[in-house]
Amino acid sequence: MADRLVLLGTKGGPAIRPGGPSPTSSLLEISGRRIVVDCGLGVTRALVNADMSLKDLDMILITHLHSDHVLEFGPLLHTAWTSGLSRKVTVYGPARIEDYWSGFLQSMRYDIDLRIDDEGRPDLRDFVELKIYADGVVHRDADLEITALRVDHPPVVDCFALKIEAAGKSIVFSADTTYFPPLADFAHGADILVHEAMLGEGVDSLVARTGNGARLKEHLLASHTLIEDAARIANAAGVKHLVLHHLIPADDPQFGEADWIKALSGKWDGRLTVGRDGLVIPL
Ligand SMILES: [Zn+2]
Ligand SMILES: [Zn+2]
Repeated sequence: MADRLVLLGTKGGPAIRPGGPSPTSSLLEISGRRIVVDCGLGVTRALVNADMSLKDLDMILITHLHSDHVLEFGPLLHTAWTSGLSRKVTVYGPARIEDYWSGFLQSMRYDIDLRIDDEGRPDLRDFVELKIYADGVVHRDADLEITALRVDHPPVVDCFALKIEAAGKSIVFSADTTYFPPLADFAHGADILVHEAMLGEGVDSLVARTGNGARLKEHLLASHTLIEDAARIANAAGVKHLVLHHLIPADDPQFGEADWIKALSGKWDGRLTVGRDGLVIPL
């Protein structure tokens, strides 16, 4: 297995539209580990499309509990289970992830119990080790270290950037955040910074299409990062590669890759990747 980062879903926000990308999720394959970061709608199909056997699912990290990051968490585990999952999956999530998981199990209880009785499957509940994390070291073993930094994503309090270090590489996910200078220290010298990004000129047109006017715009500006500010973080951190993820807007035909690149002209000289669903970045 060659180490790689796969952007599974690159859209910011939970709505999906014809022909458009999926909400946020990523796969990091490194040091023989398969780590899924966030579980937006479409994560299960995207993992399979990326040629990952769901039986090999190893670890899931959830940055925060907005639905565009967690909606398909239960269905992913359930589908991995019915696909023959043979190992425990370690799940790190923010406080209250346990409410989601117990609610999901409850909602699917009839099916889960039926499959245990009828198909002789082991119990799904035994395959998931759920751990709540906060700031600081999330996970540490011989091959892998994961640390978290609480970012600024109001009104969500428990939202964390994640730094994953393995095989001499460091990959940082910003999660959802407004411009947050401490992230630059956290990401210092990273090989890859996967940062959320918003194109200012695209926001007004998005708000007009979605139809929730002023409130939505207010939320976007207070809780997310304009692309120029993502570049400021990347420059201050001295990262080697900036990957734009959780794009807003992501499915407006008026705005494409060229607009994102243009917006960074003169602001970021390093390696740049504008995210799209299914994009593979070799490590
Ligand atoms: Zn989001
Ligand atoms: Zn969010």
